Amino acid sequence: MICDNLSVNGENHLTFAGRDVTELAKKYGTPLMLLDEGKIREKMSVYREAMQKYFTPDSMPLFASKALSFKYIYKIAKSENIGIDCVSAGEIFTAYKAGFPLENAYFHGNSKTDDEIRFAMERGVGHFVCDSIEEVSAVDDIAGEMGIKQKILLRITPGIDPHTHKKISTGSVDSKFGVAIETRQAHSLVESTLKLENVELTGFHCHIGSQIFEYDPFGDAARIMIGFIAEIKKLYGFEAAQLNLGGGMAVRYTEEDPEIDYAANIKDISEIVSSLCSEYGVAVPQILMEPGRSIVADAGMTLYTAGYLKEITGLKNYISIDGGMTDNPRFTLYQSPYTVLLANRMNEPCDYKCTVAGRCCESGDIIQEDVMMPKPNRYDIIAVLTTGAYNYAMASHYNKVPKPAVVMLKDGEDFVVIKRETFESMTANEVDFD
Ligand SMILES: *Cc1c(COP(=O)(O)O)cnc(C)c1O
Repeated sequence: MICDNLSVNGENHLTFAGRDVTELAKKYGTPLMLLDEGKIREKMSVYREAMQKYFTPDSMPLFASKALSFKYIYKIAKSENIGIDCVSAGEIFTAYKAGFPLENAYFHGNSKTDDEIRFAMERGVGHFVCDSIEEVSAVDDIAGEMGIKQKILLRITPGIDPHTHKKISTGSVDSKFGVAIETRQAHSLVESTLKLENVELTGFHCHIGSQIFEYDPFGDAARIMIGFIAEIKKLYGFEAAQLNLGGGMAVRYTEEDPEIDYAANIKDISEIVSSLCSEYGVAVPQILMEPGRSIVADAGMTLYTAGYLKEITGLKNYISIDGGMTDNPRFTLYQSPYTVLLANRMNEPCDYKCTVAGRCCESGDIIQEDVMMPKPNRYDIIAVLTTGAYNYAMASHYNKVPKPAVVMLKDGEDFVVIKRETFESMTANEVDFD
């Protein structure tokens, strides 16, 4: 199967992290999101160990927490000794409530408000990743007001097209993120930042996109960024102490996707970094990377109960489920591929083609099109694999559907980390009128 935390037991039920998922669906109800803590920790430590081994020893992965943000995951990140990347005061607040040491947090985003900037500084967020000259001066002003010197990185667009989906590609010149090298706006941003008193520039950041399988685009980004660091050193005498290469390494969603050796990719990127640094005569910076998807995606699984089978003669079959775009909008947004299994009938031949359709009043509410599975019956358990990243994080209340429960699996135990929403909790902010 696509990940080593999947198997089938003697009852022909799918297992995940060694647990019978049909049993878990019965225990907690559906839709249900399962998370495999062992897999999350394994991925975090693969990044941490490879980065410390191949880059400088203080190099560190930052979990891009937008992929899946809730209190318990920040506790895992803390105990795995890695940093985090946050993109809103809400994520910072969640990490803060979990006791995460915010000096290891990097605050991203292209639209930070003054309130958010203050909120982050009051809680001691270590670094800001600034996206524009106006933001740098807002951060400088507020840091001045608060009497602190805020460490910042500048987000640079290296001008790379990583051949991924347009909506998740961010490295090219025409992007709402960062400042371009190509137009030399990046150079002038550095020049003006270095004149400010309340910010301390520590280095540069780039993020070229997401779900990128080959390491080449990362190598290209490193090449461009180190060239930029060298140019800046020559122009302004400033030598970057940190280079943040962003996130974006892919995960396997289907059997067709190749397997990815994250440590080998990191090693290859590190060779480019060290040879270029010596070629250009700059010190090897502390390297940061921001994996989100590749930390949590295959640590997640969503379970649904099958509803009604609609066979449209001569055209198509649809099986409905008790969730959909409210818990997983990624097919609707990006036509994302997923592996879908009939979890309680794993021994039966997959000889029936059907489209897995969500419950929302929206024709586009599809989880996956034309899946081969045993002909589904009502109450079968449908498992969608690799849903740890950008599923719960993107969940909505469309059609007033409550968000599912999230259950963590750890060493044979299972426990709720996010409660299933109730109608009451979902309407808690709504004012009552007589
Ligand atoms: C989305 C994002 C990430 C994480 O990307 P993944 O593909 O999930 O690894 C990291 N850094 C920045 C700036 C991002 O926008």
